[in-house]
Amino acid sequence: MGLAKFAKAGRNEIRYNRLELAVIPIEKTMKIEKDKVVLFKYRLSDANDSLLEQSDDKVPMAYLHGHNNVLKALEKEMDGKSAGDSFSVTLAPEDAYGPVKPDAEQRIPVKHLSGAKKWKKGMVGVVETEQGRRQVTVVKVGKFMVTVDFNHPFAGKTLKFDVDIEDVREATGEEVSHGHAHGPGGHHHH
Ligand code: ZN
Repeated sequence: MGLAKFAKAGRNEIRYNRLELAVIPIEKTMKIEKDKVVLFKYRLSDANDSLLEQSDDKVPMAYLHGHNNVLKALEKEMDGKSAGDSFSVTLAPEDAYGPVKPDAEQRIPVKHLSGAKKWKKGMVGVVETEQGRRQVTVVKVGKFMVTVDFNHPFAGKTLKFDVDIEDVREATGEEVSHGHAHGPGGHHHH
């Protein structure tokens, strides 16, 4: 009789544990807020639904929330979401990369332009400026000088983001002090 009682208790115990396993992950779902690292995939299209860029198929993008690492309007949409959530948001140019500024063309030595060996009109390169790295669009190519447009390639564009949140995790102290996410999809400078 003692043995039968034990077996019964054992079975109940197993059932109880199974119930717990089913409940815990839902209760522990982490919401996106300041100092969380968000892993996400995205597709970025313009107002005509043409694809502008998208994240890597295998490695999601990683960013540290609340540290100005993504567009403010996009970060606002991310807020409070969690792994498994998907959303679409359309941003007017003023909420994205701003309007196209006139007089943003400048002639610079071609050696200051990085990203390709041979340049053609319409290509996007990178220039180091006093305000940091800037993406520029090539307007005219000469032998030693190149005319570039300092407007962001997405300036003046309405941008539609389709976002899938893959994971949300706690940031490390080091990530918070650096102001960005480390590891796959984040910064690699260590
Ligand atoms: Zn760092």
